[in-house]
This record gives sequence, structure tokens and C-alpha cells, in this order.
Amino acid sequence: MGVGDGVRGELIAVGTELLWGDRADTNTLVLSQALADLGIEPPDTLFGLYRGVDVTRRHSGYGNVLPDTITIYQGPIEEEAEGHPAEMAEIVRETVVHEMGHYFGLDDETMHRIEGDC
Ligand SMILES: [Zn+2]
Repeated sequence: MGVGDGVRGELIAVGTELLWGDRADTNTLVLSQALADLGIEPPDTLFGLYRGVDVTRRHSGYGNVLPDTITIYQGPIEEEAEGHPAEMAEIVRETVVHEMGHYFGLDDETMHRIEGDC
């Protein structure tokens, strides 16, 4: 599996999450589980989540695994953007870029420094 295959898998996951946005109950259940798994308590929430083995941790025996995924959480993004489409698009863009950073092995501290948040 090349790097390109992994990237394509992630983008497909993002696309289906957005296409199935009307499956609100599924979205809420998935988000609740992800928050619980990560020990995040409301009102803190997530806009997105990368799951997989980042490229820096793939050794020569890496393979035979499902594609990495980036999940984009519609509910929290709509809430943050107060329903404004342009704002939602910007948050989705920033979230996808952030989660792609995790795919390339960057941690949150490093990315926040790059993003100028601290
Ligand atoms: Zn992060």
C-alpha cells in the first residue's frame, strides 16, 4: 500500500460522512462514543477524528489493515458555525487539514504551533 492509497481512503470516509449527514442519530451515537473513548466531556467536543496508523509508525510489515479514516462530526460543526454554510465549509476544511496532519504523524501540540494557536 502506498501513501496515495491511504490518502484516498481517508477522503472517501470524509465524503460519505458528509453525504449521509441526514443520519443524525447515527452521527450523534458515533460522536458520543468517540468523546467517551477519548475522555472528552461536554461542553468540549470534536470536529474531527483521525483513526489509523500514521505514516511515521508504518514499518515494512505494515499492511492487510483497513484504510485509515478521518471522521468529520457534522453536529458540532453546524453548532459552531450557527448554520452558516461558508463558516461550516471553513471549519470542515481546517478540520480535514488538521486530521491529515495526524495522518502524517504530527501531534496536536506541533499542529497548534503551526496553526498559530499558541
Ligand atoms: Zn488533533
